[in-house]
Amino acid sequence: MEGYKGFWVFIEQLQGRISDVGLELLAKARELADATNTYVGALLLGDFAEDKAKELFGYGADKVFLFSHPHLQIYHSLAYTKLICQAVKAEKPEALFMGATPLGADLAPRVAARLETGLSAHCVDLRLGEDGVLEQIVPGFGGAMMAVIVCPEKRPQMATVMPGVFPKLEPQERQGEVVPMEVALEEADLKPKVVEFKAKEQKTVALEGASVVICGGYGMGSKENWQLLEEMAKLLGGAVGATRPAVDEGWAPEEVMIGQSGKIVHPKLYIGAGISGVMHHVVGVQDSEIIVVINKDPNAPFFEVCDFGVVGDATQVLPALIEKLKERLQVD
Ligand SMILES: Cc1cc2nc3c(=O)[nH]c(=O)nc-3n(C[C@H](O)[C@H](O)[C@H](O)COP(=O)(O)OP(=O)(O)OC[C@H]3O[C@@H](n4cnc5c(N)ncnc54)[C@H](O)[C@@H]3O)c2cc1C
Repeated sequence: MEGYKGFWVFIEQLQGRISDVGLELLAKARELADATNTYVGALLLGDFAEDKAKELFGYGADKVFLFSHPHLQIYHSLAYTKLICQAVKAEKPEALFMGATPLGADLAPRVAARLETGLSAHCVDLRLGEDGVLEQIVPGFGGAMMAVIVCPEKRPQMATVMPGVFPKLEPQERQGEVVPMEVALEEADLKPKVVEFKAKEQKTVALEGASVVICGGYGMGSKENWQLLEEMAKLLGGAVGATRPAVDEGWAPEEVMIGQSGKIVHPKLYIGAGISGVMHHVVGVQDSEIIVVINKDPNAPFFEVCDFGVVGDATQVLPALIEKLKERLQVD
């Protein structure tokens, strides 16, 4: 383990726009680096001038390793993997974090395999153990417990984390170093060819940034009952979310799934109806200001983490709430 130091973050970008997840990971890397007296490195690949790299100092980076080349503007699995592995082998960071995004899900395992190190995917927290080894927290055993994963014998320690898990820092005036990196690519590194990225059409109110989230689970029972959640969300100006089983049933699109493998939300008010409340889902909502749970089973684990709980049938409780809300808001 001798000679490995620094917490590194891969900075994801799409068409030149830096995604929040990289900035969120920089904030966590900053905290870990300060606790262990080391530095934060950012890996920025794209077609960027130095000024773009310097923006990352404000979010916590001490060093930005800048790979700038027109071929890197669009993500290429093989090229990105090769360049990141070269940098890691040369600089020896003790840890490397990436977003648990579709891009991160493609890139992180490739990098880990080439570096012959471990990778903890979809972490919901990162912290230091007593011995200074990184503890990577992932819900395990059906979400019934939090697993602490360590990688004691290999470096770098690698983890992916969902967008929205950590808050990014408010940009500050900070100085750092931009390290220009050589981009030596061969024809073979640019296959397969990505021609363009297209944003997915958003059919529902965005969950990200919503101050009210009404979420339904398998206990909602049917697509018809799902309308109750839509109506409630409309009245409160909120967004509708879903658990995995509700998505599997086809009651809601996958992009509104909340939890470890879905979205992380931070609304002022979260209402969960017909949801058992296992960790896989709870990690996506636990930072909501107020959590209200509606479940007909008084022993449902969700009641242990909520602020207000209603023991009852959601198909009866929701219509009653909707009626009261309409009265209050004076709408039909
Ligand atoms: C690796 C992994 C990742 C996962 N990631 C996610 C994730 O990101 N998000 C996610 O949601 N899940 C995820 N899961 C699935 C997760 O483990 C649970 O299976 C899921 O969250 C349970 O969803 P649920 O609460 O809707 O369904 P259930 O567990 O079936 O619970 C339904 C609840 O509804 C209640 N109920 C039934 N009828 C009514 C009624 N009429 N009124 C009120 N209450 C009623 C029941 O009492 C029960 O508590 C993941 C699983 C794995 C293995």
